[in-house]
Amino acid sequence: MPSPAPVGYTSTQTAAPASVVPETVPPAPSERDPVRREPAPAARRLPRIFACLYAPLYWAGFIGVAAWWVGERGGSPWWLPPLLLLAIAVSTLAERYRPYRAHWNRDGGDGRRDIAHALVNESLNIIGLAAIPLLAAALPWAGVWPTQAPFALQLLGAILIADLGLTAMHMASHRYRPLWRLHAVHHSVTRMYGFNGLMKHPLHQMIEAAAGVVPLLLLGMPATVAAVLAFAIAIQLQLQHSNVDMRLGPLRRVFAWAPLHRFHHIKYGTSGDVNFGLFFNLWDRLSGTAFDHPQYPLDSADLGIGSQPDYPGGYRAQLFEPFRDRPSQPVPPTPPGLPRQRETATAAGAASARSAKD
Ligand SMILES: [Zn+2]
Repeated sequence: MPSPAPVGYTSTQTAAPASVVPETVPPAPSERDPVRREPAPAARRLPRIFACLYAPLYWAGFIGVAAWWVGERGGSPWWLPPLLLLAIAVSTLAERYRPYRAHWNRDGGDGRRDIAHALVNESLNIIGLAAIPLLAAALPWAGVWPTQAPFALQLLGAILIADLGLTAMHMASHRYRPLWRLHAVHHSVTRMYGFNGLMKHPLHQMIEAAAGVVPLLLLGMPATVAAVLAFAIAIQLQLQHSNVDMRLGPLRRVFAWAPLHRFHHIKYGTSGDVNFGLFFNLWDRLSGTAFDHPQYPLDSADLGIGSQPDYPGGYRAQLFEPFRDRPSQPVPPTPPGLPRQRETATAAGAASARSAKD
């Protein structure tokens, strides 16, 4: 086991194709056919190829289709919600085919709650998108948005700007207690799978959306770009929390997908104050909060909120939990190999505390 990483550790490890899950699971010999047949070479390579290609194809495929349909064909954005349902179905099948942790696919009584979170939050997104033309009409100045540029470039620019605002709000949500109370709902999970990427307190969802999207709206972002941006965020949230065992290679240093984001969900106090980015690792690299440890065997015991191990699991209870005062529990010690927890706030230094978790 590697030695503990220093505070603020930023990994320079290369993306070794390592995993805590066996590469292939040999088939059990059946009673009818006691002689095990070696799988064909192509069949042996298929799981590894899938692990390498799944995330980039899922990301570029679904976002590309949405951008082509809305931006190039002038299609209705109302086809994006059914496309998102298809993406969720594909993500769920992929998690069955090659899971990072097989038991994370089992519904632990949280499935209906996550559906409720997703329905409420995606409905809020649709209401917000419907209001964009009204906001645009109310702006007293003409937007500076480059509407003549290719749609793909407009979308990429929107993603980059939104990623900065969302990442900054995410960092603030770990630093300031009122925001953390709302954000803690998202961190209470002890299994990670694509669909619970959409699990957030609706107030925090709106605060995050304001940080990520309002600057773009003030620049005059068209409603069509906003619709595909909202779709792209939902696709990214799927990949960021996916239970697929991914082999990302050099993309691990670029995209904030599940192998990186899982470290953000560790329960050891401020040890999880790493990898805040939504789309890319760029802002974390610049902030010194990027972390990676491809060989760490992360599992359910590492996830959740260490100071609140009994966080309520029901949807209604989670809506009210941010407004309740409960005593914090001692944070469990950080295992070797993960970022060390920062000093917790003292009474004198609480105002300048770098984390609101404890
Ligand atoms: Zn967070």
